[in-house]
Amino acid sequence: MTDTLVPSNTNVLRRFHPGRRLEDTFQWPFESLDSLESSFNVQEYLQQLIRLDCSDVQRIVELPENVDDEVWQYEHLRQVCLELSLLVVALEAECTKQNCPEMKADGWLYLCAAHPSTQSCPAIDYIIHTLDGATILLNNSKYFPSRISVPEPSLKHFQSIARRLYRIFAHAYFHHREIYESFENETYLYARFLLLSRTYELIPSSLVSIPDNEDLGANQDDDEDGEDDYNRSVPNNSSAILLPKD
Ligand SMILES: [Zn+2]
Ligand SMILES: [Zn+2]
Repeated sequence: MTDTLVPSNTNVLRRFHPGRRLEDTFQWPFESLDSLESSFNVQEYLQQLIRLDCSDVQRIVELPENVDDEVWQYEHLRQVCLELSLLVVALEAECTKQNCPEMKADGWLYLCAAHPSTQSCPAIDYIIHTLDGATILLNNSKYFPSRISVPEPSLKHFQSIARRLYRIFAHAYFHHREIYESFENETYLYARFLLLSRTYELIPSSLVSIPDNEDLGANQDDDEDGEDDYNRSVPNNSSAILLPKD
């Protein structure tokens, strides 16, 4: 009999083995934030929560103890970008340059800000350009030099990133409903993103065009400060223009 002592709570081996199936990976125990010792512990903790139950939106967005709320928003936005790229893959068959020659959502036409001067891009290009832009910005060490704090002047980027990411969900919802719904049912990504955005006021409620999911029982009153936000944000929003009425 081997009497090797296996100390609990220490040195959990977390390895990816080549060739292992996705459903067999991540089979290590849930670890508290304190016991995650890497420089990316907040990201790892967030990803653990998502793997544990991606539908537990409240728990996923709730600020963990001892985490800076700005870092928490930062890690969430990074994660949304990562997961949105899976939505892009799902959209690609249907959201073609022929089907969606412009980036529209709920009666709005959006111009792409990823070029020397804003221009109209086909929806799929807009989506990819926007995701690339957000990812590059979030990885820019000039604005986000560390994973433990966010410099105050960089906070403004959260709102512009969130506003642009919102349009990707909105385009999928209004133009590719089936793809949107099957993606959302599997990931709850929009639900998480929306709760994050509401919690930290990343997007004005007037820009929330996707109806609340009744299944979540969310009966939020959406009209507080709505008018203010609408009047302030929409006319000044140079990358969104209203379509002429036809
Ligand atoms: Zn499309
Ligand atoms: Zn573009």
